[in-house]
Amino acid sequence: MTLAQDGKSRCTIVIGAGASPSERHAADELQTFLKRISGAAIPITTDDQEIAGPMILVGASESLTRAAPDVDLEPLGDEGFVIKTVGPHLVLAGGRLRGSMYAVYTFLEDYLGCRWYSSKVSKIPKRKVVRIDAIDRTERPAFAYREPFYTDAFDADWAARNRANGNRHRLDEARGGKITYSHFVHTFYQLVPPDKYYDEHPEYFSLVGGERKRSRAQLCLTNPDVLRIATETVMKWIEAAPGATIFSVAPHACHKDCECPNCRAIDDREGSHAGSVLAFVNALAEQVEKRYPDKLIDTLAYQYTRKPTKTIRPRRNVLVRLCSIECCFSHPLATCEVNASFRDDIVGWSKLTDRLYVWDYVTDFPHYIMPFPNWEVLGPNVRFFRDHGVEGLFEQGNYSRGGGGEFAELRAYILAKLLWNPDIDQEAVMADFLKGYYGKGWRPLLEYITMLRDKVRQENFHMNIWVGPDAPYLTDDVIDRAKRLFDRAEVLVENDEIHERIRVARLPIRYVRITRRAEPNRQRLIDEFVAVAERAGITDIREGRSLKDFIPGWRAAK
Ligand SMILES: [Zn+2]
Ligand SMILES: [Zn+2]
Repeated sequence: MTLAQDGKSRCTIVIGAGASPSERHAADELQTFLKRISGAAIPITTDDQEIAGPMILVGASESLTRAAPDVDLEPLGDEGFVIKTVGPHLVLAGGRLRGSMYAVYTFLEDYLGCRWYSSKVSKIPKRKVVRIDAIDRTERPAFAYREPFYTDAFDADWAARNRANGNRHRLDEARGGKITYSHFVHTFYQLVPPDKYYDEHPEYFSLVGGERKRSRAQLCLTNPDVLRIATETVMKWIEAAPGATIFSVAPHACHKDCECPNCRAIDDREGSHAGSVLAFVNALAEQVEKRYPDKLIDTLAYQYTRKPTKTIRPRRNVLVRLCSIECCFSHPLATCEVNASFRDDIVGWSKLTDRLYVWDYVTDFPHYIMPFPNWEVLGPNVRFFRDHGVEGLFEQGNYSRGGGGEFAELRAYILAKLLWNPDIDQEAVMADFLKGYYGKGWRPLLEYITMLRDKVRQENFHMNIWVGPDAPYLTDDVIDRAKRLFDRAEVLVENDEIHERIRVARLPIRYVRITRRAEPNRQRLIDEFVAVAERAGITDIREGRSLKDFIPGWRAAK
């Protein structure tokens, strides 16, 4: 099928007269990109018009039903899609919420060579002839909820084009919307605020070492008034956020659970502190269900609540987010001995619920900008989650205002692809990204990444998310070789824009050299680091700590 030739096309893009917002947007995007690729202006029309010639059928329509009666969109859900040539026509259709839109982007990407590497960098090839062979492809996502949690990935177009649909992506109605949370996590004190209740009712809060805690602890989850107040709060949240589907009722990021006899009895019986949390969340969710049967209540299996309960099962409208924060990320979750207890926990939770989400970690937490060679585990871990029935996957990277972090755009890109299809060839996706994003400098950068991967493998080092610049894989030899590879990449680049991207990619090694005080040209390195980081808009070095806070200390250190 020829879509365009010498800047002309005989095709018409056809949508239903009642097309969904994302189907209309998808048709516009298809028209725009086909114009950029071929120079041809292809008209968009609706199925109530007279249409001659080959059709590109975007989404459900009368024309689609007539031209391709065998195409059944029903089993595809909200997000699945079909790409199929039928006679002289091309079908790009799927679920009305986002599926048809994903069909269009997947077609542009896989058949016409378009790439949307980051919010600012894309590749749209030019072609004199746009011709395709027969296609018959059906896809559905591996995970219903897909959130690569990097600042740049929050961009609306990037997220739509790379098929991310998480809470922070700025997806509007035209881009199919997203899975929206109300109150994302750690909400106990928002449900029952200590400032409002503690003075009169200290018994609402965690009993720790004989004292009811006002701050940095949890709630007394077996107190019936706590349940009543929290339920009322969630009802208000639901009324205030009609677009949200998931409401967080989750412990804080500290232990300090309630030691009162009633709370303890449940936890002892269940063999986990998840016992009292889940009993509470279930009771709350039961009330919510009566008024809002479609809303989900979310809670955490995190740190002190990570172990699954023995008998209590999450209700059908309760979603459990299991967090991998303690794990080793140089070795896969499936095989490293450090991750054995996490494996037990995911197996346990997957038996208790089919509404299991995972909060996973893909960056170095205290040093977003540090080399964090977890490349070996990205694909294997996503597949591990898929194989354990996980329905939603949140991949926590650097989400600070200014974004950045080691290879942030590359990671967000690979993760978005894996969250849709965990079986993609990660190495091919990485090589394609490096070529597209770093131009002629791509090969030394791939060598740099490979060098770090090899080093971690040789050292057989268990790497958690708190590893620092003194990590055993960052030897003087590795740093010297990295310097040479980046020098080579900087010589090869073809323009200033790509040169700057390579300088940004170089920041992690500079960061390590700066924090190691023996570096002879330290002040100059700091100047260079700060200049590049500022130009790139990088604001934070770690969660809640700004780059600016660190600079005086770096300069003062001898
Ligand atoms: Zn209690
Ligand atoms: Zn390990």
